[in-house]
Amino acid sequence: MSALSTPLADLVGGRTAKAMDKAFGIHTVGDLLRHYPRRMAERGELTDLASLRIDEDVTVMAEVRSCEIKGYDTGLRVEVVVGDGRGTLNLVFFGKRSTWRKKELAPGTRGLFSGKVGMFGQTRQLAHPEYLLLHGDDLDAHEADDFAGALIPVYPASKDMRTWMISNTVRIVLGMIDPLPDPVPAEIRARRGLLDFDTAIRTIHRPADRDAWYGARRRLKWDEALGVQLALAQRRATAAANPATARPPRADGILDAFDAELPFVLTGGQREIGAVLSDELAQPHPMHRLLQGEVGSGKTVVALRAMLQVVDAGGQTALLAPTEVLAAQHARSIEALLGSLGQLGRLSGGDLGTRVALLSGSLPSVARKRALLEAAVGTAGIVVGTHALIQDQVSFAELGLVVIDEQHRFGVEQRDALRSKADRPPHLLVMTATPIPRTVAMTVFGDLDVSTLTELPPGRAVTSTTVVPVGERPAWLERTWLRIREEVAAGHQAYVVCPRIGADLGEDEAELADVPIPDDMPPRRAPLAVADTLAMLADGPLAGLRLAPLHGRLQPDEKDRTMAEFAAGRVDVLVATTVIEVGVDVANATVMVVLDADRFGISQLHQLRGRIGRGAAPGVCLLVTEAPPGTLSRERLDAVAATTDGFELARLDVEQRREGDVLGAAQSGTRSQLRLLSLLRDEELIIQARDEALAIVASDPELSRHPLLAAQVAALVADEQADYLEKA
Ligand code: ADP
Ligand code: MG
Repeated sequence: MSALSTPLADLVGGRTAKAMDKAFGIHTVGDLLRHYPRRMAERGELTDLASLRIDEDVTVMAEVRSCEIKGYDTGLRVEVVVGDGRGTLNLVFFGKRSTWRKKELAPGTRGLFSGKVGMFGQTRQLAHPEYLLLHGDDLDAHEADDFAGALIPVYPASKDMRTWMISNTVRIVLGMIDPLPDPVPAEIRARRGLLDFDTAIRTIHRPADRDAWYGARRRLKWDEALGVQLALAQRRATAAANPATARPPRADGILDAFDAELPFVLTGGQREIGAVLSDELAQPHPMHRLLQGEVGSGKTVVALRAMLQVVDAGGQTALLAPTEVLAAQHARSIEALLGSLGQLGRLSGGDLGTRVALLSGSLPSVARKRALLEAAVGTAGIVVGTHALIQDQVSFAELGLVVIDEQHRFGVEQRDALRSKADRPPHLLVMTATPIPRTVAMTVFGDLDVSTLTELPPGRAVTSTTVVPVGERPAWLERTWLRIREEVAAGHQAYVVCPRIGADLGEDEAELADVPIPDDMPPRRAPLAVADTLAMLADGPLAGLRLAPLHGRLQPDEKDRTMAEFAAGRVDVLVATTVIEVGVDVANATVMVVLDADRFGISQLHQLRGRIGRGAAPGVCLLVTEAPPGTLSRERLDAVAATTDGFELARLDVEQRREGDVLGAAQSGTRSQLRLLSLLRDEELIIQARDEALAIVASDPELSRHPLLAAQVAALVADEQADYLEKA
């Protein structure tokens, strides 16, 4: 058994081991040693108390300013004020038995204070904080040793496991274990100037100085980057080595007929990427490509042309969408684009063409059986659906190409499950409208080649975005509703987007998955809901207009009906959740009002407003918020209003989020492995690690000459799978 997999209980005794498990799920020595300090506090350096956020669990280094006993009898409390030179923070201890603290917490005493930041009146306070004083006398020998250096590690801590207890345990464990073997080959370490693993692990917990600490972090970030990149390089190599059925273009096939009837001219980008896809589909190895492009850049046509080439070559294609609304919409718009080419065998069809089948989770059983049959016998060349498509009962006669739309909601595992539906792996095309920073793409989609559609089709009107701050400008809200009335009077349509479905209907998790991190907003009322908003609008500012609700909890046929009515112009205003975020395409819709806009993420808002300005008339997007100026929430909205560049916004989005959120729910297995690595700040390191990973896998595909690396990768993949199984 290697030192890292040794149960912690073998080294530090049951009580501590149990507490570590309870607080952080730490079981082994490796778990503990990978519980890295969040930062290094400098002895003598005081924490910036003004930066503390309410409800945050903090450890601060501060100096006692005053300490008084207040109240009488049972109401006794000790009130302490600590400071950092600029700001102050109150500590309070209740009860008679707290009074002895007055002696201990004399003015001038410095210490680490840990607790949850609360608010009392106008001041921040920690109630009953744990603390460790730094004057030396009271410290026992171990603790004194811990604080002998200039740097004090501050760990992610909990109520029962304070940072100094963790530090203490780590010190004990490091003293007991033998030097740790290094998974990274020496020549890579030399080439990249990396510390050895044992030194790095010891140093990240107990550095002599800051430079040493950074060096250790860099090395350990490398391990994380290399692990992920190796897993991806292996996946890529395996996939590329697979045989696939070549699907070369056929002269005078459906694709040619389709191109001849296309009502518009393809953009340069659509043509170029189309040629790349066409080439790759003609190869006897599976295509693995990510197609990213701004909202409205015309990805669907590109994908459909690839699908038709495959159908021409005797294969079927599956198009997977994240929601039923989007799947239904895709099926409809593909049928519309195909015209008579999509009606083979029907009265309205010619003798050249194929059929489109829609398969979603809760179709009526007759329709479902028919779709299943069409997929199984092969009459449907194009099968559109939600994840229902990856269920076991669904089989294809000859699956040649899988297209996944709006990838960020699907995990690698789901991709694999769908690919396993064919005897030979089908070609794969993944589309996303969420622009992804390069390193994120490399990490999350590192097993795919990437194409980017940069230009929008010509003649597209622009969408202007304005923030409506109801706190400062209440009158603007009336203007907002009036604006909808004007657009409707001019023959256009509108969306009103709410963050929630409604109190009694609960939340739709899939729709709420993208809500941004809580920030510096004070606690607020519940987010606005579709049901309440609809009622409010119908009785008030939008009385007389034709309004309809749309959200994930409606019955599928109800959803379809509503979308169809809206597309046909028989509904003026759709009051919806983010179900409309992706792919919904009604060119006549020109206004979008997003309520509680601060509850949405940057990329999500960008996606949402992509639903308007899709025709010739300019779009107007109004972001209604109560967030006061100067808050992070407001900054986010101002940024969305200021630019339409999706890549710029994606970057901002990543900056404002925690790393884990960037990887998305489907990638949380990977996330738990990335503790130090920042996909944004560590771009260069990730690129280097990727190069090394590709080289290693090229010469040692199974990693049999790199057993320790192989073990790391296996752990990472196992995590990802465990996560997937949990969700499935
Ligand atoms: P997205 O990339 O967001 O999926 P779509 O494929 O839905 O974009 O395309 C948006 C709209 O633009 C659709 O109505 C589509 O028919 C239209 N479109 C696509 N390509 C072109 C083009 N080259 N010229 C004009 N309109 C186009
Ligand atoms: Mg689309």
